[in-house]
Amino acid sequence: MRYDLPALARRAKNPRRRSVTLRDIIPPAVLATDLYRAAYAPVIALWSRMAERIIAEYERSLSALTTDAPIDLQRLLDEADGELQRLLILLTAAMNDWTVRVEGWTRGKWRGAVLAATGVDISTLIGPEDVRQTLGEYLEWNTSLIKDVSAQTRQRIGNAVFAGLTNRTPARDVAKTIREAVGMGRDRATRIASDQLQKLTSALADERQREAGISQVEWRSSHKRHPRAHHAARDGTIYYLETRTPVEGGEAVPADDWVGRPPYCGCRTRARLTFD
Ligand SMILES: [Zn+2]
Repeated sequence: MRYDLPALARRAKNPRRRSVTLRDIIPPAVLATDLYRAAYAPVIALWSRMAERIIAEYERSLSALTTDAPIDLQRLLDEADGELQRLLILLTAAMNDWTVRVEGWTRGKWRGAVLAATGVDISTLIGPEDVRQTLGEYLEWNTSLIKDVSAQTRQRIGNAVFAGLTNRTPARDVAKTIREAVGMGRDRATRIASDQLQKLTSALADERQREAGISQVEWRSSHKRHPRAHHAARDGTIYYLETRTPVEGGEAVPADDWVGRPPYCGCRTRARLTFD
């Protein structure tokens, strides 16, 4: 704990209620779109360009009836790898900008929620440096996710080409499979960007709550169209932040099932201040 928000709130307002729950902080979808555009779209665009060249090469090699054709395809795949390496340097800078922006947005919303609920202005008490390690971790995580999306697309394209050559598959069928591989990469990257926004904002919320000396949080279900049933069932339940145990008693939530942790979980927590 870096500062005692419940104590500051008690002093500022002398609250009559025994507890106050801070308002929900919902990250806007546009931040996920921004991450996709900045970090993932250039890699998809690279594979999209490569896919067309590989399709052309496949057509040529199929008609040429030469056995050295696969080597040319290997060269194109290697060329894509080289381009990815150069691209990653630029993407790292773009991702860094994004994490800084998400941190600034989240901090502003947290400050606003605290001010609205307690009358305490915490803007001088918190700064980006408090969460630098988390931002660094997300930067690294996204770098490895980008590499993984690229590697998976490369693999799918490679498989389509080599299977096509073995079976003498018509070029238009192989072309379809290759373009689908790029599409699958694009879809996965879109989901990842949205998931990363949820995960980063929930990790930041967690840290901001801890450093403020918040001990209880209220679970907010994502209210997505297909929520995890057991997550939706936790909507409104108050938990101890430290132990993830319900205040009313019961089993602790496992760490890997906590808010924002499972894949594509859109749940959040609202901080709860208690005055005794
Ligand atoms: Zn959830």
